[in-house]
Amino acid sequence: MARVALVTGGTRGIGATISTALQAAGYRVAANYGGSEEPARKFHSQTGIQTYKFSVADYAATGEGIARIGKELGPIDVVVNNAGITRDGFLHRMKPEQWSEVIATNLSSCFNVSRHVIEGMRERGFGRIVNISSINGQKGQFGQTNYSAAKAGMLGFTRALALENASRGITVNAIAPGYIKTEMVAAMPAEQLAKVVATIPVGRLGEASDVARCVVFLAADEAGFITGATFTVNGAQYIAA
Ligand code: NDP
Repeated sequence: MARVALVTGGTRGIGATISTALQAAGYRVAANYGGSEEPARKFHSQTGIQTYKFSVADYAATGEGIARIGKELGPIDVVVNNAGITRDGFLHRMKPEQWSEVIATNLSSCFNVSRHVIEGMRERGFGRIVNISSINGQKGQFGQTNYSAAKAGMLGFTRALALENASRGITVNAIAPGYIKTEMVAAMPAEQLAKVVATIPVGRLGEASDVARCVVFLAADEAGFITGATFTVNGAQYIAA
């Protein structure tokens, strides 16, 4: 029986590429989304992957969504906590909502999702949790105290959860992508884009497939000895110790 994988924010952007990469690797994939109906509909019709709308920032709604996935696809073996938002602004101008929305969607979501799957994973003796953090959680970024705090928080969450579940066949790892060529990045003016690329030693932006490749590697049954780690996928833009 194929393993079941949940990808949060899995119907567009990097998440969509992760969903299709897992599908290609033989997983039954549940792609969650928060509210953008048109991309979700298009994604489903192009890939056949089942989509599930719920807010990962909401504990109860996440529980209901995960229960629905369990009924329709089976118990979840692999979770990719990919959903994320930005609400940028310098701290001296930041509104409390900018802070709390980013923490809820990027960080509390990891608790909300993991809490609802972890008991089942422990009972079954197998689980893979991959948390999509960011280079900006490792090094900080102007205008992103909220996002950098949430993404750094995901790294601590990853390590602690890895320790708690290491003896139960469950691995928990983080991926910290650098600049990835999503629609938003690709739409930047060419001159601005060239300046960004000049800071990346590999000499190009990352592709969503560079992140997805890492997820598929970590999700594998054979990756059971790799846990509590952070994988940078950033073309050497920032090399963390
Ligand atoms: P996008 O903005 O393209 O997509 C974000 C996804 O998250 C969407 O599918 C969106 O759903 C979903 N989402 C947002 N809020 C919620 C919510 N409350 N509940 C459920 N789903 C939600 O992001 P990217 O593909 O660019 O980024 C994916 C991840 O990678 C993020 O965590 C981001 O922080 C991280 N990252 C991205 C980098 C980049 O260069 N792009 C670099 C480093 C890290 P919907 O479609 O319904 O809106």
